[in-house]
Amino acid sequence: MYKIMTPGPTQVSEAVRMARSLACTNPDLDTDFVEFYKETCELISSLLKTKNETLILGGEGILGLEAACATLTEPGDNVLVLDNGLYGRGFADFVSMYGGVPTIYEASYEETMDVDALAAYLENNHDFKYATLVHCDTPSGMLNDISKICPLLKQYGILTVVDSVSATFGEPVCVDDFRIDVLCGGSQKAVSAPPGLTFVVLSTDAKQAMWNRSTPVASFYANLNTFKDYYEKKWFPYTMPISDIYGLRAAFDQIAADDHLYERHRVIAEATRQTLTAAGIKLHLKSGFSNTVTVFDIPDGITADQILDGMKQRGIMLAGSFDDFAGKVIRIGHMGSNANLPDMVETMRALDLALRDLGVKLEVPLDMFFLERVRALEN
Ligand SMILES: *Cc1c(COP(=O)(O)O)cnc(C)c1O
Repeated sequence: MYKIMTPGPTQVSEAVRMARSLACTNPDLDTDFVEFYKETCELISSLLKTKNETLILGGEGILGLEAACATLTEPGDNVLVLDNGLYGRGFADFVSMYGGVPTIYEASYEETMDVDALAAYLENNHDFKYATLVHCDTPSGMLNDISKICPLLKQYGILTVVDSVSATFGEPVCVDDFRIDVLCGGSQKAVSAPPGLTFVVLSTDAKQAMWNRSTPVASFYANLNTFKDYYEKKWFPYTMPISDIYGLRAAFDQIAADDHLYERHRVIAEATRQTLTAAGIKLHLKSGFSNTVTVFDIPDGITADQILDGMKQRGIMLAGSFDDFAGKVIRIGHMGSNANLPDMVETMRALDLALRDLGVKLEVPLDMFFLERVRALEN
């Protein structure tokens, strides 16, 4: 068993694992479960500072993204796809799959989305039903400023679908203030429950657009409208994965009780970036650093696999990346339950040893420097 310091799935606490082993009731027939489900959804909404409704769906993070596109898109709809990362670009497939016409707005994959440039583009191009964007594009660690981008799009009446699967609960999100119409999250990133669940947070505008379609949704499982009035009817569109939801609730109870959640993510992420930089290792991005994941370039003369193997020999799993980034970067996931000092110090120590073993010259000892930076940033 490795310590998984990957950008999802993340480590799962004992409280979450115990909650998943509770005795099961029949989630279709026992109305107590409907109450439990609704309460859990309301807890998520309150943690995300919104009056909007949250729905938990029985499927991995991708289901939330697909369901948002499936339920919003009618054939011929124009959709703006903001692309400065692999998940960003990937939304175009979901849009086309359901008959929409994606317009890809491509920006640098090394810098956070330039809000002024987007504003200039929108002045002449704003005939879109909705826009898709990614909060943290995990393969590169790219963080986009949804607090500015979503209100900007909303000014033109463009609905927003935000993939925040790897950012929510590691980066602060205020759904109402940011005017997000559909926020998509997942269980296995900063929430730190096992993979298998996704949640979507829907604004009134998003629901109106979904309910007032003139064509049927070309899916059942990805159709969010099937949840309409589930509480009044005490009826879910399909049998809910009850044990997964018990675990998810325990994870959210821990998040709700954590007064230092965002501060801890900020300090650990900042210290990680400062440490790698001081050691002479190049961070992959120029801007847009997420506090949930740090991505660095492979030093000359060695490979990603060599680093990953060296880490595994020391009991720790880091992640490489995929597609355009395969073999070029290593990712450290310091989100959710991974964002704790002992595990991060251990990770830095293992990385120090693994890199030196491979002949990489480091300007500072990673673990000691990291600890010192954390102490300094905490003050
Ligand atoms: C993890 C993640 C998802 C969920 O999908 P995976 O199957 O785990 O890739 C969606 N979006 C982002 C940005 C993610 O990081």
